[in-house]
Amino acid sequence: MLSELLAASLLVLSKAAPLCPGEYSNFIANEIEGEFGDYFEGDMLLTEKQRRDISYAIDGRNGLKEGAKRWPNRTIVYHIIEEDFDEDQLKLIENGMTDIANRSCLKFRQKEGEEHSVIIQGSANGCFSNVGLSSPDDEDDGDVSQVLNLAKGCFRHGTVVHEMLHTIGFYHMQSTYDRDDFVEIVWENIKSGLEHNFAKYNNDTVTDFGVPYDYSSVMHYPETAFSKNGNRTIIPLKENVTIGQRDGLSESDIIKLNKMYCEDIEAEEKQVLSSIV
Ligand SMILES: [Zn+2]
Repeated sequence: MLSELLAASLLVLSKAAPLCPGEYSNFIANEIEGEFGDYFEGDMLLTEKQRRDISYAIDGRNGLKEGAKRWPNRTIVYHIIEEDFDEDQLKLIENGMTDIANRSCLKFRQKEGEEHSVIIQGSANGCFSNVGLSSPDDEDDGDVSQVLNLAKGCFRHGTVVHEMLHTIGFYHMQSTYDRDDFVEIVWENIKSGLEHNFAKYNNDTVTDFGVPYDYSSVMHYPETAFSKNGNRTIIPLKENVTIGQRDGLSESDIIKLNKMYCEDIEAEEKQVLSSIV
């Protein structure tokens, strides 16, 4: 237990650099600026293997393809560092889990004994998480600890759910292989050195589960993410759409969540039904 906590804080210390939330004039971006730190794409901790696997500008959409990165038994095992949070914050964490569980086959349960879990903490700056289950072969040093950090500014339902979806195995919506058909990235407005936050993913790493591009995904960046001048860095090519909402799961988020984790349950159920008939 203690060694796990130590490992978690070391992970954060070694990967955390001072966050630079940016100068966002946009209301939505201000609300969620804790996501825009110095991690890969602002709020994701990636293993070396994940970094290697992601290739820029080929294709892919926003859920992890690799079965190995999914949580086994459709269950997210967690350990909350309760002293990092007040009652309202604990309630929002619980609400996030309940919302995801109610709309999918996924379950959340507290860690028992020494088993692997995501450590939900609030001790570091910003909102961030590892992507998917951390498994032993990810890191050369065998470190499999994983965290979901929720600092004070992260306590909005959609932001909590956004980070939980990273933990479950989702990347950002605008990283999909065909995003240029749906949004324009305005490179000259992006803060210098932060262009990597707008990478596109290889289809070997992520998949869209056949679900169309979703402007209303809780995993989509807002229009002025990582802007150096307050001007838009992402412009939707469709009129009258809003991007960057952090109210909660969109319909497509729910469909993808279910396709990633729950489809074989449905197939199993159908098989049982047909064997009865
Ligand atoms: Zn994110």
